[in-house]
Amino acid sequence: MTRKYNFSAGPATLPKEVLETAQAEMLDWQGSGMSVLEMSHRGKEYTSIATTAEANLRDLMSIPDNYKVLFLQGGASSQFAAIPLNLLGGNDSADYVNTGIWSKKAIAEASRYCSINVVATAETTDFTSIPPYEGWDINPDAAYLHYTPNETIGGLEFSFVPETNDIPLVADMSSNILSRPIDVSKYGMIYAGAQKNMGPAGATLVVVKEDILGKTGKDIPSMLDYQVHISKDSMFNTPSVFAVYVSMLTLQWLKDLGGVGAIEKINNAKAELLYNEIDTNPLFKGVAEKEDRSHMNVTFTLTNESLKNKFDEAWKAIGVNGLNGHRSVGGYRASIYNAMPLKSVQVLIDVMRELNN
Ligand SMILES: *Cc1c(COP(=O)(O)O)cnc(C)c1O
Repeated sequence: MTRKYNFSAGPATLPKEVLETAQAEMLDWQGSGMSVLEMSHRGKEYTSIATTAEANLRDLMSIPDNYKVLFLQGGASSQFAAIPLNLLGGNDSADYVNTGIWSKKAIAEASRYCSINVVATAETTDFTSIPPYEGWDINPDAAYLHYTPNETIGGLEFSFVPETNDIPLVADMSSNILSRPIDVSKYGMIYAGAQKNMGPAGATLVVVKEDILGKTGKDIPSMLDYQVHISKDSMFNTPSVFAVYVSMLTLQWLKDLGGVGAIEKINNAKAELLYNEIDTNPLFKGVAEKEDRSHMNVTFTLTNESLKNKFDEAWKAIGVNGLNGHRSVGGYRASIYNAMPLKSVQVLIDVMRELNN
């Protein structure tokens, strides 16, 4: 069996050790005589998996006690609607930062429920840089401020946490959760689809400060109501048990590796290597402005489009997968999430070098 060097943006590569554990436990989870796929979510076996997943996450992210952790379904995309429904309160206006395709989708969905104040937009630089914080037009009465710390498609990442005073800060961390230490207490809510940096598709993480909930006065569909899920410990309906289980294993893997401080160093090293090649190899150029480049999704193009076929054949031939940019933007994108080993990044760099020989 040969596994690809998988640079796919999501679902994305998982740690080999995690897949091996899931494989070893597939027919019989820890002597239970059942696969995790077959268990009642209310049994003691799955309950212990869910509890461990939450404990691992709380430990890794140092989540304060006044924040609730939910493992839901529906992806980050469901949260685009759930956020205004749960957080608007008496206020019908919310602040959004527009840094790319995922921000735009969050804005489009929220605009069904409230008026949107776009505090800053990266449109003027064609979404290649983060708008400088000094110019943000924050509404002091906004119900919350939403931003996308890492734009998975454009390859843009915030290097700062926006200051909002008392307005709850809401962050879509789908593609950079657990990639480095963050101070959870600065956020009202953090959410993420698991399939990029935390586990497989099917689980959606919500970390929410409890005191920002319950103010809406709106009739919220139960499946989108955080308070309903909190009151049922993420078991209002059948959870995506296998996705939570593989997330639990991935979180365990990250803990064993030394946690988010340790992975940050590795992630920085991977990003530096790759960007250095892009900057020094005359055949490539980066898409995002240097200071706003993503550590997770490295977007780049060829300087000479006539080399496209040759380059594409070369990386495919050595077993690289998932390097094409998002269909909406083209070019190339190497997603180098936590589970991507540094030596796989080196393999990619070698093909890029080879092209210039
Ligand atoms: C992938 C992604 C999403 C969408 O996630 P789904 O789980 O497919 O709904 C939203 N936001 C960001 C930043 C993403 O990278």
